[in-house]
Amino acid sequence: MADMTGISKNSFNELNFLWEVSSVLASSTDAKILIDNLKDIFQKYLSVNNFQIFIKDETTSTLRDFVKNWIIIEKNQQQELVENIFNRLKSVCDRGFILNNTTIKYDIKNKTVFFDLIKQEKNLIYFPIFNEKKLIGIIEINFDGISEDIINSQFLTALRIAVSQINTVIVNKILNRHLCVHIKFQNVMKSIAKLIETQFDLNYILPIIGELIDRFVSEHLIYIFVKDENNKFKLFWPLDCQDESILSLLPKMTKSKASIISKDGKTGLFAIRNEEKTVGVIAASSNIDKLSKTEIDYLSQLSVQASVTTQRANAYAQVLKYATLDALTGLNNRRQFEIRLKQEVANAKRNNKPLCCIMLDIDYFKHVNDTWGHSAGDCVLKNVAKIVAGELREYDIASRYGGEEFCILLPDTKINEAAFVAQRLRKAVEKADINISEDEVLGTDFLNVTISVGVSQLDPKEELPEKLHQSADIALYEAKRRGRNRVVVFDESMI
Ligand code: GH3
Ligand code: MG
Ligand code: MG
Repeated sequence: MADMTGISKNSFNELNFLWEVSSVLASSTDAKILIDNLKDIFQKYLSVNNFQIFIKDETTSTLRDFVKNWIIIEKNQQQELVENIFNRLKSVCDRGFILNNTTIKYDIKNKTVFFDLIKQEKNLIYFPIFNEKKLIGIIEINFDGISEDIINSQFLTALRIAVSQINTVIVNKILNRHLCVHIKFQNVMKSIAKLIETQFDLNYILPIIGELIDRFVSEHLIYIFVKDENNKFKLFWPLDCQDESILSLLPKMTKSKASIISKDGKTGLFAIRNEEKTVGVIAASSNIDKLSKTEIDYLSQLSVQASVTTQRANAYAQVLKYATLDALTGLNNRRQFEIRLKQEVANAKRNNKPLCCIMLDIDYFKHVNDTWGHSAGDCVLKNVAKIVAGELREYDIASRYGGEEFCILLPDTKINEAAFVAQRLRKAVEKADINISEDEVLGTDFLNVTISVGVSQLDPKEELPEKLHQSADIALYEAKRRGRNRVVVFDESMI
């Protein structure tokens, strides 16, 4: 009986069918569109109800829906059925197909198809998909509604040709995916290596490494652990890890091990090393997928790259620390202060933001040195620096300007706010009992000091950046003059 398109269900127009299959295969780039188009063609020519492609996933060895490819799908009944068929296909032939309980063998030499129908519960035909000579998937075709007499050898040959074309396209897509993964991997490697060019702070670098790898192995969650001072692994990134398989494997990560893979293959730990020592771990875990050989290989290489980057960051940070920080207090040194002063003044002017400067000096510090000794004086300096740093915001810039003088830049801060901060600093120092006993001072454990503070704000019209600091210094001098242990805000009349 002819339908409206003029195609009889009993007379199957194989040439048109193959022509349409080829053109769809040639034109669709997206897997979903490809399958939808093929479904339409199979429906039009063969009254096929459904048409599905399953590809074996390398990682899990389970078959996955080609369209939902690369997305985890729960093992369901249908999947079990296709897995079963897949395994039967593996054992039955290397170029054949199965029609439910019927094995159809294709004799390569004689190019003939043998099949004996046993019983037909469901009209499903399965075709194998090969990559090189390996069976990697199956195409399932549901033939409900097609009359049996149409399934002759001519019909099957046409189907086989269509399927082999589909096979080629799928293999290409898989190859393409491998290539994409490889390119992505190379890009992640490059990004990690590049990090060091702009950053040296591990607190900044490690989360970026974590994010890069996490995005790369999308089916596994990535965690980064770093060894603390007690030689214990502590989670560094992200904020939480409840994964028991990782936590139980961590203690096994001894210094000789470059990586550990859990027994079920789903969790992997990869060492971050620094001079032969394991300083951290990159952990990858999933409760569904095994790590493939390729992923393990990639993750190992990425952890080596992360090691190199962190080593260089450490070395760089060390060099930078000595070049920019004051050895006694850990605050910026004077040289760094001068650099930062110029930068902050320029920033404030460009962004039209206020900028303030606080200059402070310990009162009667000579007396401290003279009475308790120089090392007690050093101890006081360290403690005052700590108190000051503790009272500031993260983006305030504290420096040891010289001797017992400190200078603080307060970006985006108005003068009344800066004066308030200055008062807070003064009070914090005044009330602190500074322990100097660790410096072998006989008889005295604690001592108290006060500070005098000068505050100034940037005049946007002023050309010279150092004017900001000079004004604060003038105000500081005024604070000393007025009796010490006080805050004075600069004003022009002081000049
Ligand atoms: P004022 O209240 O006027 O500031 O009195 P002062 O005694 O603090 O006077 P001044 O600022 O002139 O004295 C600074 C002293 O700080 C002189 C120097 O011996 C001492 N000093 C400078 N650098 C260090 C240091 O690194 N360690 C120690 N212990 N003392 C230092
Ligand atoms: Mg002083
Ligand atoms: Mg001084």
